[in-house]
Amino acid sequence: MDKLDTFVDYYEILQCERNSTDDDLKKSYQRLVLTFHPDKLEGYDHEENFHRIQRAWSVLRDPQKRRQYDAMLSCYESSDFILYNTVSLSDMNFDSTESVYTYVCRCSGVYCLESSELISPKVIINCNECSFSILVNIPEDKFR
Ligand SMILES: [Zn+2]
Repeated sequence: MDKLDTFVDYYEILQCERNSTDDDLKKSYQRLVLTFHPDKLEGYDHEENFHRIQRAWSVLRDPQKRRQYDAMLSCYESSDFILYNTVSLSDMNFDSTESVYTYVCRCSGVYCLESSELISPKVIINCNECSFSILVNIPEDKFR
């Protein structure tokens, strides 16, 4: 199943295990930052790499975001969801007062995505009424 390759694995980026402790993650992050810091290495690839490391760390260091991310990752890997649609964030309606993105399901239920939940390039969200899910592609600049 090739979909797997496209779900960014933050643990892999930080060169850690899924069950690594916060301490292990932090040590690994600090080591990687020293290696890939743009001041030390020049070139676009390194800069990209550095951003990826920063992003992975910004999610995994936060217990709530890590839980959210873990749930999504295992859901994705076990294919434990029924995909209704794959959409881009720009296909969703943005309510700026609530800071929430919404998408209407075919059951007329709603998929809701809060700005704080934009934690990876792909996010899985569930319908509030039925058992369908959608996969949302998030542009880089929204969660960097
Ligand atoms: Zn639905």
